[in-house]
This record gives sequence, C-alpha cells and structure tokens, in this order.
Amino acid sequence: MKTSDILIIGGGIAGMSTAYFLAKRGKSITVLEREDQPGYHSTGRSAALYSETYGPKIIRKMSTASRDFFLTPPDGFTENPILTPRGVILTAAPGNEGAIDEVLTDGRANGANVVALTADDIKKLIPILNTDLISCGALETDAMDIDVHALHWGFIRHFKKLGGELVVNADVSAIAKTATGWQVTAGNETYEAAIIVNAAGAWADEIAQKAGAKPLGITPKRRTAVMVDLPSDVNALGWHMVSDIGEGLYFKEDAGRLLVSPSDTTPTVPHDVQPEELDIAITIDRLMTATTLKINRPGEAWAGLRSFFADGDPVSAFDPEMGGFYWLAGQGGYGIQTAPAMGEYAASVICGDGVPARMAKIGITEDALAATRPGLGKPA
Ligand SMILES: Cc1cc2nc3c(=O)[nH]c(=O)nc-3n(C[C@H](O)[C@H](O)[C@H](O)COP(=O)(O)OP(=O)(O)OC[C@H]3O[C@@H](n4cnc5c(N)ncnc54)[C@H](O)[C@@H]3O)c2cc1C
Repeated sequence: MKTSDILIIGGGIAGMSTAYFLAKRGKSITVLEREDQPGYHSTGRSAALYSETYGPKIIRKMSTASRDFFLTPPDGFTENPILTPRGVILTAAPGNEGAIDEVLTDGRANGANVVALTADDIKKLIPILNTDLISCGALETDAMDIDVHALHWGFIRHFKKLGGELVVNADVSAIAKTATGWQVTAGNETYEAAIIVNAAGAWADEIAQKAGAKPLGITPKRRTAVMVDLPSDVNALGWHMVSDIGEGLYFKEDAGRLLVSPSDTTPTVPHDVQPEELDIAITIDRLMTATTLKINRPGEAWAGLRSFFADGDPVSAFDPEMGGFYWLAGQGGYGIQTAPAMGEYAASVICGDGVPARMAKIGITEDALAATRPGLGKPA
C-alpha cells in the first residue's frame, strides 16, 4: 500500500501541470498513468498552438493567465523557450465577416494583438491561398507555437525533483471510498490518498463511475491531422498558421511541410483513436479547394481526442456529492495552451485557497469551472 496526500489519475498535460503546482505547495503526490508514455493520448497529438483569441471565454482567460508562465518559466524548467512566434491568420468566407469582427473586438478587449486583414493582405502573406473564397480576415500576431514535449516534460521533471512520483503502466481498475479518503487499485498495487484528481481526459466519466460519482457527460471528439509535402517552388518557412474561422480547415508550416486539419469534431468513445481514410480524403480535398496546391499523396496522419462537456467549458472542481473527488477534465482543444493556469488554479482550489488572486482579477471564478453547472451530465 502506497500513501500520498493526493493521487492524480492521468499523466497528460492536465494531470502533470496540476501535479507540479501541488508538489510546489509541499503536497506528496502520486500520478497514475495507464500508458508507458504519459503523453501518448491527446497531449502528444495536438497542433501545439497558443492563441489568446481561440475558444470559449473561460478558455481565453485561462490562456491569457498562462502567458507569463510560458514566457518566463521557472529557472531550468526547459532548455529552450516553450513558445516560438507563429501568428495566426483567421479567414472568413463571404457571409462570415461578423465572426472576424467579433474576434477583433473581443481580442482587443482582452489585450491580444489582432489586426484586420483584407483578402489582398492575406494573399500577400500566404500566396497559395485562393482568396476569391475569402472575404476578410484577422491576424493575431502574438499567437505562438508551443513546444508541447518540453512543457509536459518540464512539469514531469520538476514535479519529480519536488519528490513527486509518476507511475506508468498503472491502469486504474478500481476506486473505493474509505473512512479517510480513497483507495485506488492499479495493476497489482494499491494506493491511498485523502483526495483523488480525475485527470483522465476522454476517460474522465469512466474514472468517475469507478469511484461511484455521477458522470458529467464528457464527450471525446475525434480530430484528424495530416502532413503534406510542399512543391519545391513553395517556401512556407515563416508563414503564419491559417485557420478558417468557420472551423472547416487549418494548416501551419511544420519543418518545411504543412500540418493540415479539417477541424473535424466527430463524437466517439474514449479509445486509442486512429485517423479515418475518409477524414484524410476530406482534409486533402479542403486543402486543394482553399489553395492552389495539388496533392497527389498525403503524408503521415494521426487523430486525437478533444474532450468536451455539454457547454464547451472545462470542469476543475470537487464533485458536489463525492468528498475528495476532484474533476479536472473537458479541456477540449485548448488543454495545452491553458495548462499552466489550469494547473495553478486546480492546485489552489484543491488546497482550499480558492481562485488565485491574479486570476480572480481577470474574472476567473469558481462558478465558471464548477461541476454543478446546468447542462452538465448530458453528452456534448
Ligand atoms: C488534433 C488535435 C489538435 C489539438 N490542438 C491543440 C492546440 O493547438 N492547442 C491546445 O492547447 N490544445 C490542443 N489540443 C487539445 C489538447 O491536446 C488537449 O486538450 C489536452 O492534451 C488534454 O490533456 P489531458 O491531460 O486532459 O488528456 P490526455 O493527454 O489524454 O491525458 C489523459 C491521460 O489519462 C490516462 N488515463 C485514462 N484512463 C486511465 C486509467 N484508468 N488509469 C490510468 N490512467 C488513465 C490516459 O492514458 C492519458 O494519458 C488538440 C487536440 C487534438 C486531438
């Protein structure tokens, strides 16, 4: 039997960022991860973008609250900067100009650097685009690429330095309530703690059910990414990412090639998701419609799960009926860019200190992340 103050189930970016901030507060923490690689699922399959204009309101606030950590992480956290400049161009098809206006107004109100672009401006920046299909756009100059591996392993390394234990190949199979907290079985081991944190991503409802808590309706949605080679006369180095604001396609340069996604959001069940042939074909078709590129053969493809609750917002809160059971799930397509603030927030709430003052100042409330929000419990 191993005993810790807090057990975290799931060693993805959500579990590890929270583990790091809890360990910094002097708590003894064990993280149980089913796979032999903690970034095997969603965390290792993202598009690695940091954008302060992307996602619902609470996500945008959490992204903004994460910026300082990304730009000035603790000493020795990573060898190289976590963020590198990218910029993202949002494009609108005719009829969708209002969505760009919203991004401009809202982004500026939040302090993001966003400028309006005409179709001609966009063509100058990304010459392969068929701008007759584009009415206007916006450029978020401060959007960045995230070195996800460095961030994730920065949290893991520093968590371990602070005495934390990450156990891999630890598939949590049973969770029982005890007089003082919880007893969790993973493989042949039993673990005990006063508090458990459910950071199991797409499997969050399964973990809740094992603990006897009511599922909150987490819905994993498949998203596909495909690598594409560029013709020798196209040099994409330094291009901004391009994303259709109607969420039909995005692409960004990656080591001289393009990473392309059809922005698919197909509901599925929690599993080791793989790309579907049809989604790859749709990706290539949309890329060829949006640009002058002719693609004969797509490169490697992968899919990952973006997991949502019904209202699109994450939950970071104790279960209202199960004392000591903390939900940390539903980060959707934004779990990397929000990880530093979400981890700090969760650690503060778990330790009974509520919303960190600097987050309260920008309007982050416990209600926004509560497990009691209306609509939770139904599938997204
Ligand atoms: C294609 C794609 C593009 C994306 N692009 C971006 C982006 O540009 N920017 C951004 O911020 N976000 C992006 N995301 C979203 C981001 O990847 C997720 O929000 C984030 O990784 C979620 O982290 P997590 O730790 O909750 O989940 P995961 O990384 O899935 O971690 C959950 C862990 O729980 C473990 N687990 C589950 N059940 C058990 C069990 N019974 N016992 C032990 N362990 C268990 C799993 O093995 C897994 O490792 C993207 C996602 C996809 C798929």
